[in-house]
Amino acid sequence: MDSRGIKRLLFSYVLINGIFITLQTKEEVLLDMRASGSELGWLTWPYEQGSKQGWEVVQRSLNGSQLYTYTVCNVGEHEQDNWLRTTFIQRRPSASRVFVELQFIVRDCNSFDGSSLTCKETFNLFSSESDADIGTSFRKGQFKKVATIAPDEITSRNELRINTETRVVESLSRKGFYLAFQDIGACMALLSVRVYYKTCPATVKSLAAFPETVAGGGVNQALREVAGACAKNAVSEESPRIYCTMDGEWVVPVGQCQCMPGYEAVNDTCRDCQPGFFKAFVSNDACELCPVNTKQLSSGALLCLCAEDFYRAPDDPTTGPCSGLPSAPRELVATTTQLAAGKLQLSWSPPEDTGGRSDISYSVECRRCEGTACQPCGEKVRLEPASSGLMDTRVEVSELEPHLNYTFTVEAHSGVSLFASQGAPRSNRPPSTSTLTTALHYTDPPKVTSMRLDERSLTSLSLSWAVAPRRPMPQSTRYKLTYRKKDDNLDVTTYTVLILEKSSVQISDLSPGTAYLFRVQALSPEGSPGGSSIEDEFETLTEVPLSQSNTGVIFGAAVGGAAMLMIVVVVLLIRKRRRRSHTRQGPEDTYFSSSEQLKPLKTYVDPHTYEDPNMAILKFASEIHPSHVTKQKVIGAGEFGEVYRGILKAPGRKEGAVAIKTLKPGYSEKQRQDFLSEASIMGQFSHQNIIRLEGVVTKFKHAMIVTEYMENGALDKYLKDRDGEMPSFQLVGMMHGIAAGMKYLSDMSYVHRDLAARNILVNNNLECKVSDFGLSRVLEDDPEGTYTTSGGKIPIRWTAPEAIAYRKFTSASDVWSFGIVMWEVMAFGERPYWDMSNCEVMKAINEAFRLPAPMDCPSAVYQLMLQCWLQDRSKRPRFPDIVSLLDKLLRSPESLKAIADFDPRVSIRLPSTSGSDGSPFRSVSEWLESIKMSQYSENFTCAGVVTMDQVLQMKNVDIKNIGVRLPGHLKRIAYSILGLKDQTSTLSVFAV
Ligand code: AMP
Repeated sequence: MDSRGIKRLLFSYVLINGIFITLQTKEEVLLDMRASGSELGWLTWPYEQGSKQGWEVVQRSLNGSQLYTYTVCNVGEHEQDNWLRTTFIQRRPSASRVFVELQFIVRDCNSFDGSSLTCKETFNLFSSESDADIGTSFRKGQFKKVATIAPDEITSRNELRINTETRVVESLSRKGFYLAFQDIGACMALLSVRVYYKTCPATVKSLAAFPETVAGGGVNQALREVAGACAKNAVSEESPRIYCTMDGEWVVPVGQCQCMPGYEAVNDTCRDCQPGFFKAFVSNDACELCPVNTKQLSSGALLCLCAEDFYRAPDDPTTGPCSGLPSAPRELVATTTQLAAGKLQLSWSPPEDTGGRSDISYSVECRRCEGTACQPCGEKVRLEPASSGLMDTRVEVSELEPHLNYTFTVEAHSGVSLFASQGAPRSNRPPSTSTLTTALHYTDPPKVTSMRLDERSLTSLSLSWAVAPRRPMPQSTRYKLTYRKKDDNLDVTTYTVLILEKSSVQISDLSPGTAYLFRVQALSPEGSPGGSSIEDEFETLTEVPLSQSNTGVIFGAAVGGAAMLMIVVVVLLIRKRRRRSHTRQGPEDTYFSSSEQLKPLKTYVDPHTYEDPNMAILKFASEIHPSHVTKQKVIGAGEFGEVYRGILKAPGRKEGAVAIKTLKPGYSEKQRQDFLSEASIMGQFSHQNIIRLEGVVTKFKHAMIVTEYMENGALDKYLKDRDGEMPSFQLVGMMHGIAAGMKYLSDMSYVHRDLAARNILVNNNLECKVSDFGLSRVLEDDPEGTYTTSGGKIPIRWTAPEAIAYRKFTSASDVWSFGIVMWEVMAFGERPYWDMSNCEVMKAINEAFRLPAPMDCPSAVYQLMLQCWLQDRSKRPRFPDIVSLLDKLLRSPESLKAIADFDPRVSIRLPSTSGSDGSPFRSVSEWLESIKMSQYSENFTCAGVVTMDQVLQMKNVDIKNIGVRLPGHLKRIAYSILGLKDQTSTLSVFAV
């Protein structure tokens, strides 16, 4: 740098690519007239020294300091051409562009009297390049004009005005140059000439170092590209570059340097990662803390290695944490699911220590041991869903043999389990396996393989059968033998079921010359039937063979040696008595499953048998704290108080909607016990089609009975609201549910006594459930209850004649009521026997009249109703039969297609034929109201049908056209019109 140079740093801010970067500009001075402080020895031309004609050196004092200036002032003269040339100015290589800063004073031409004509106020700046100092030789022609310089402010007589102007001399290429100032007649003084060039100073940007650079590019180039070098331990994909502008500013850095792995950027250098930190990749990120379960390494770590006993799975990132092997699964237990089928379920809890991983899976190994010899179970045992790769903590094991010891080893695996087998085993590694040994101690019932006839007579058959041995053979195997006559075409089929303790039997009292079908099946000691049963046919003799004729009757009731339990089941086959002929029923119509009869049954306990009825409540109902019950809305009125819909939110139970029956204040103790007796009864039942008791509140003043909530309320109302809108199939489905509930009750020897659609509740899924179990309900609760001559209150229309006559309430009388419920269902909640009085109803029933088939009632369904209303209660079907029959009808919907005969005159009865007083209807709306079709009044009016005469003219298509679309409604109106036309209508109900 020039010894006279003055460094001046200028700061500027340049916005590059949206980022402000601070740049410093530096000026390198080549010539400074004022700073030299002495006479400069610049050449003047013309050469007349001492005359007043050209530039001359004048020493001045300015602000107290001495300085040399060049002045010229020939304003009175013509054609002035005075030159002042600097000494040779050395150029710096690459400084092709220099700045010339001038300070000067120019006198105002107007301040010269009379000389203003030739007076000038400007001067010219010239330059001339040269490779060497040419001394005093001066030729004007070698100079090129740079600029004409004019003052911004001119100096008057009494005021000095200093101007500063800067000009650029460009495209310099030779070793040096001269500047020259041409005066053409001004009066001026040159106070200062400063020649300098600009540089971009050496800098470090983004970890790249750039050297000091002369501003601007070559000839006419505004920018100079400068290559940089990455700092130590830094690298860059693209070599770093930056541009130096003409003004000495760095702009547009390209290509970033980033610290190498193991180093991080700190103050424009790359520094080693500190101990316990690492950096795996080239980046400008800071070093990261070593992840868990890794070793703490010294500084400059690229990665942190796993600590002892910790690993990274092949798919784990090398920068992630290390994990340990999982510990053993916990709480391994075996639960027997189906003992006799050799099945169990193994289940376990996830390991306590998963090693910090979530990819835990399990494998199960099975070994079977006989004595001390163990071997893998192999194919002999099935593990489902699989034996390895299990994500769930359970597995189903099947095909286990009884009395063998099985050892199950459950191992927890994770992504790092493959390291478990590598290297020497370490004592501190937790075991990943859990082992359980178990055995199934059950007796597999043997399989009956063949049946043989040992002896036969006119009335007896001796049979025996063989069994496939099982290991070990159960000590006492029992057998179930079922037989029936082969060609049992009668209405009544008899099945006989024998439970035998021997594999042979002699059966007596058979019919001569008759084929019988036998089925035998072995039972396990627990009573469950073994594999498949075997069926065979044997026939008794038609004639007594000679050899046997003398032996007489062979056996009595006792069967040789075998203890025999005999269950004889008689099944009534309901004969189809449809008016229209249908296919005859074959033997497959037998809808009885003998196994049902073998089930041990729970019996209903009458709460009255308890001396203290509160004990019954305690036994059969769970107590609920009233704070767990929230009443929301009254939904009905019970005998003892309001019925509410509400919410039960008891600890340990799922929150849910409930019905809450309350007991009115002011009750007596007797009323309280009667109220709660319903809960004691309901609490004994558990069936899909019986309303479920959730619990009772008895320990507080306001007693409550809480039951499941049935969204659709009572069945009779539900059906009335959907008159004609539900298909038979759905209605039969509802009946099936009710029958299933009643079967359950009859199995428990419970007689309901008040079965009616109003006492059936319907939920959201259209499931029907039997309700209303209060002990006093038949007497008090039911609005249908009527006092009879035999005493007591009875819902006459629903009750079987024998129950009305002499209070013979049985499951058979419940079957009668069920028949009435079926009718209510098919008639969409119509009142049985309409508005006949109870007296009329009883009379009609005694005279063998029965309700007629409702409209659109499937014939099979009506036939079943009629069976339920058989006078002889022993002939009525029982609930199991009813369930089976309805089940069969539902399984073959075709069977519902045949519709029972319908007589509109009796089915829509009195109101459809005339007004209530027996006179014809006075208006269309009165008629519509009587058949409960008032909703169509407007349709008739709009269609102009306003008189009954017009109604009588209507055909089915007309009814449809006025907007009656629902088939049920269409039929109801059409049938009513038919009835109106028929003047001979009778008021009788259907006679059986
Ligand atoms: P009850 O005293 O049992 O005859 O009940 C009177 C009325 O309350 C019934 O007719 C139903 O409308 C209604 N109700 C009773 N229990 C329930 C229940 N569990 N779910 C819905 N509504 C019910």
